[in-house]
Amino acid sequence: QRALLQELKGKSNTTIDGKTIQVYANIGGPSDIGLVQQNDAGGVGLFRSEFVYLNARDYPSEEEQFNAYRLAIETLAPKQVIIRTCDIGADKQVEYMGMEKEENPALGLRAIRICLTRKAFFKTQLRALLRASAYGNLGIMFPMIISMRELRECKELLAECAEELKKQGVKIGKYAVGIMIETPAAVLIADELAEECDFFSIGTNDLTQYTLAIDRQNAALDPFLAKHHPAVLRQIKMTIDAGHRHGTWVGICGELGADLALTETFLRMGVDELSVNPVSVLPLRKIIRGIDLRKEPGAGLTDETEAVSTAPTE
Ligand code: PEP
Ligand code: MG
Repeated sequence: QRALLQELKGKSNTTIDGKTIQVYANIGGPSDIGLVQQNDAGGVGLFRSEFVYLNARDYPSEEEQFNAYRLAIETLAPKQVIIRTCDIGADKQVEYMGMEKEENPALGLRAIRICLTRKAFFKTQLRALLRASAYGNLGIMFPMIISMRELRECKELLAECAEELKKQGVKIGKYAVGIMIETPAAVLIADELAEECDFFSIGTNDLTQYTLAIDRQNAALDPFLAKHHPAVLRQIKMTIDAGHRHGTWVGICGELGADLALTETFLRMGVDELSVNPVSVLPLRKIIRGIDLRKEPGAGLTDETEAVSTAPTE
């Protein structure tokens, strides 16, 4: 790792034929900031804000959240830090929220659905994020979006919070607004969503779960889990194309982004950013710099991925 760092530090992630993409890191909280720096990631593509809820005994205050977000944003500035709003529910439960037990938690009241049901709770986080935006380069990302109505409601609440803070004389910086694409519904309406987003980040963990109808928590289903399933890969391509039709950049922040057998495929699809576990950043950057997209698709591709990557764009 140290030799890789020596070799790659400060270098761009450019293929032999000159295509450059961003390689960002996924983090679970401010304690991972050091890992972003040590691995020379270009930014943070997914800051899972759940830690502020999961580590607490009671609702985290606006101040606590602000401090955590600010620490990451300010330390890493001018690098971009994309913070995903609360994604609890399903497998991530907290006592103090008093959520009802559900028959199908993965299909239940989770993530943005909780936030849009409990608006005061959501607005506390949005205010903390907006205040932190004054200290660096922030992206705000909403998880599990399945409709335009949800996206618009999130953006309205964000605007409402910004208005309230401005009235109080609180400084707010510039920030980008994007969503996770992690349901087939979002992929299928990606053209409409892209018109109202600065960026998309594809959550391949949930997108795979919801596309293949395979519970991501259930290891007994592993024999059925085709990680490179063409249904998932085609949706990634569809999302990238839809984003680009509307000037929206598209990244991948699910596990598949770190799958080196797919790096060339994703580059051919036109992905703009890959956000991966910090330890995967340097190996991924090394692979990108060795790829030549003028050559025939590489040997690492399976039949499935090849069928997707060579399919016509439109
Ligand atoms: C995903 O679903 O791919 C993702 C990145 O989010 P999480 O794994 O936190 O659900
Ligand atoms: Mg997810």
